Amino acid sequence: MPLYEFRCGTCGSFQEWRPMSEFDRPAYCPHCQAGAKRVITAPLVYTTTPSYRKARYLEEKSAHEPEVVVRQPPRQEQPTRPKPVVSRHPWAVSS
Ligand SMILES: [Zn+2]
Repeated sequence: MPLYEFRCGTCGSFQEWRPMSEFDRPAYCPHCQAGAKRVITAPLVYTTTPSYRKARYLEEKSAHEPEVVVRQPPRQEQPTRPKPVVSRHPWAVSS
């Protein structure tokens, strides 16, 4: 449900949640009950990356109750060390 902004000539602007099907329904100022004009504003759009939104979603989802892990995450591969060079002539210096 979108949030619409209205402006009362006396009291200033106010906002009201309403279904899109009622976007043209008249609004009345919550303070003086006078009719108010709708103000066209920029829509609220996501300006974050999908990975950030997913991280925020998971953070909020587990804020009150931690998620139960049923499977361990895949292991990170350890960097492999180069194998030592085995020479048939241990007294010789090789590259
Ligand atoms: Zn007013």
